[in-house]
Formats: sequence, structure tokens, C-alpha cells
Amino acid sequence: MKTLRDIPSVGSLLTAAESSLLCERFGRRAATGALRTVLNGVRADVRIGRIAVPSDKEIVRNAFALLEREDQSTLRPVFNLTGIVLHTNLGRAVLSQEAIEASTAAMRSATALEFDLHTGKRGERDDHVRKLLCELTGAEDGTVVNNNAAAVLLCLNTLALHREAVVSRGELIEIGGAFRMPDIMLRAGAILVEVGTTNRTHTTDYRAAINDRTGVVLKVHTSNYRIQGFTAEVAAAELAALLAGSAVPLMHDLGSGTLVDLAHYGLKREPTVREAIADGADIVTFSGDKLLGGPQAGFIVGKKALIAEINRNPMKRALRVDKIRLAAIEATLKLFRDPDRLAERLPTLRWLARSSADVKSQAERLQPGLARILGTNYFVEICECDSQVGSGALPLDVVPSAGLVIRCRPNGSLDQLTAALRGLRSPVVGRVVDKGLLLDLRCLEDESALIFALSTLELDGSS
Ligand SMILES: *Cc1c(COP(=O)(O)O)cnc(C)c1O
Repeated sequence: MKTLRDIPSVGSLLTAAESSLLCERFGRRAATGALRTVLNGVRADVRIGRIAVPSDKEIVRNAFALLEREDQSTLRPVFNLTGIVLHTNLGRAVLSQEAIEASTAAMRSATALEFDLHTGKRGERDDHVRKLLCELTGAEDGTVVNNNAAAVLLCLNTLALHREAVVSRGELIEIGGAFRMPDIMLRAGAILVEVGTTNRTHTTDYRAAINDRTGVVLKVHTSNYRIQGFTAEVAAAELAALLAGSAVPLMHDLGSGTLVDLAHYGLKREPTVREAIADGADIVTFSGDKLLGGPQAGFIVGKKALIAEINRNPMKRALRVDKIRLAAIEATLKLFRDPDRLAERLPTLRWLARSSADVKSQAERLQPGLARILGTNYFVEICECDSQVGSGALPLDVVPSAGLVIRCRPNGSLDQLTAALRGLRSPVVGRVVDKGLLLDLRCLEDESALIFALSTLELDGSS
């Protein structure tokens, strides 16, 4: 019978043949630490008689498993089966192959980021996207920053520092994650002037609020809610007409800001950036990773003189994007030059445009395999469901979709199931509805990858 004294030392284990792979894979230092952790546990357990002294091989195996667990990235890719195509907590848009390749190339080598290849002189990083932005939106000029929140902050700080910014009470939005328009105003150094009421704002309200302290009139797209019923708002074109001839610029925060007419892809129409510019906004801001389907970014397009002023703001430097994202942005924007192939190449649009019949036949293909993997404690049914765009875009609109709903038999546990799915090497994230786990398959492309991921699922008591 082995006793406490028979437990090997870290040193002897490290030199044992069993450990060579451990050291090779994780390095000697990490291997030493892991062996020490496992041995401490073994010693404690043996002392109270919970276990017998394990073999060297087993100790090394446990150290390996420990390091492997620690080595897994917490930021690892997941299967987004939530039915929310642009899920903010799951990283919003999935990038196109073109964008992935462009940013990979930018990562791998030096790039002409701020270097003009024609003159050999210093260039500007905005130059890589300026022309494209103008072409796609009809604006005179454009620039790009970290995200749309940054775009709004920078524009307000440039146009309305210590001056008044006029906004309708119906448009004082909060976007998830503590982006509240009044707070952003304050931090931008602008003085918020609210006009109208929550449900009704009229041109006269704006007119009465505009004076020589006014720095900007801000129109905000109420991305994530709708005010319905007895309502009135002043369209951007009317505001532009009101401000015509004055020195006060009109800024329009479009939020998601699409570059194409979504009706072409079977979705509800949203005002495009081009329309916002044509309606007379002097500055328009919008996101890169919402309906645009690119990386996180904030675009600012509009009048040349105002964009120049925004670019001179020292805060621009703190909010700029790096070469990796800039490459992805350029590649994403280029796809919009060919609207006919856009849905094919841009995952966000491809998934939003997928027919529910197509998703349903995928559910039919996957149902038997999933049922087999889950065993006898669960049952799996094909169901119809609704997907959402997400990220506050088209909040009231749903896209008819399909998927698989997993329900428990008496010995099944939904909590255990969802936890096990999250714990996979490629985690699977669905959504819980009426005591079942719904896997909306709208965003699933690689079926065999999902089946492979699920095949590693370990559930207590499943057979
Ligand atoms: C989403 C949104 C923002 C913030 O954009 P991010 O790119 O997430 O920073 C700002 N304004 C509106 C109206 C939005 O919908």
C-alpha cells in the first residue's frame, strides 16, 4: 500500500519520461507550476484518505489537463445560435473573407498606412477609405474612428464645445453598455438643450431653441425603440431647411447606418447614409459593425470643412483606428460597390437574407444527429422561430427563421445542458425559451463543425 511518502516530488516528475510532452507543449516553468498544483491536491486528498496515491502517469495527465484548460482562450470562437445576427455580446458582425484577408495581410507586414506611395511623402490614414466613403454615401468627405460612440463624442466636442447642442426629447437615447446621449454630451463639453416632448417635437420647438450659442442641432436615429401613437417628429430634411443659411450644422447620428436599401434583401427599409446626406445633414455618423457588417468602427461623413475641423481635434488621435481594422474597413466598404454580390460575400447580409425554408431544411438535417448525441434525457424538435437583427437595428422587426428546440425528459437538466454547451472547446450559445433551449440556425454555415463540437459534449447520466 502506497503512503504519503510515496508521492513523487515535482523534481522527479519533471525528469520522468511522462513529463517530456508536458514540458514540450507548455514550457518547463508552466509544467512545474501545474505539477506542483496537482501534487498539492493529491497530498491533501491522500492525507484524509479520499484517494490512494495515483501513478506518476496519472499525475502528469492531470497536470496536462489543467494546463490545457488554462490555455483555452476565453475569447474563443463560439457558435452563435441565439438568432440575434448582430449580437453585441458575441462580437457583432462576422467579417467577410475579403476583410479577413486584408487585415491578415496588414498584420503580417509593414503597410503604407500613413505613407503616400505616389509622392513618397507622409500620407494620411483616412486616405485609404475617404474616396470609398464619398462614393458610397454621396458625402464630400469622411473619416473613421474607433466606433460610433466615439464618432458622436468627437463630433459633439468639435462642433459644440461650450456651446449648445439641440436635441429632441424623443431622441435622448440610451444604447446598451452605458452610452447615454445626455452623458456623452456632458463629456463632450456640449450644453444639452432638450426640445419638444417625449412623444411630440415640432419645427417650432427647434426654431425657438436656436440662438447664437447653438453649436449644433443633433438628430438621432432611435435605433433600439419606437415611439408610437400620438407622435410627431421633425424629419432631417425639415431641420436642414430650417438651418439653411445659418452657421449651425445639422448632425445626424444614424446608429446602424446602412449603405444599401435593405428591402432588396427582404428586410425592412432603413434610411441609408446616402439619403441622410441627400436630406441635408452636414454630418452623419454610423457604426462599422452593425448592418454594415464590418469591424468595430465609427464613420463620420459630411461637409469637407467640418470633417477637416473634426480631424484637427486632438481627440481624433485618441480615437483613431489601427492598420488592422483600417484594412478590414476598406475591404468591407469595397464590397458595397457591387450590390449584386453583396449578400453572397457579406456574412451579416447573407444570414439576414437567408430564407426560413433554407434554415428549416438545415434543422431537418441536423435533428437526428443532435438527438443521438443528447441521449435519452433530452428530446429535440424542429421548430419555427424568429431571428432578430440585433445591436439595436430594426428593433421591432423579426426575421422568420427555424431551428431546433431541446427539451428535458425527467432526468435531463436544462441548466446542465446549457453549461455543458458553453463549456465546449467551441462553445454553442442558444437561447432559453419556455423551458427549452432554442438553437436558431440562421447564422450556422458549417454544419459538420457544429456536429463535431457537439460530439465532444459530456452530459451526466446521458446514454
Ligand atoms: C449603436 C448606436 C450608437 C453606438 O454605436 P457603436 O458603434 O456601438 O459605438 C450610437 N448611436 C446610435 C443611434 C446607435 O444605434
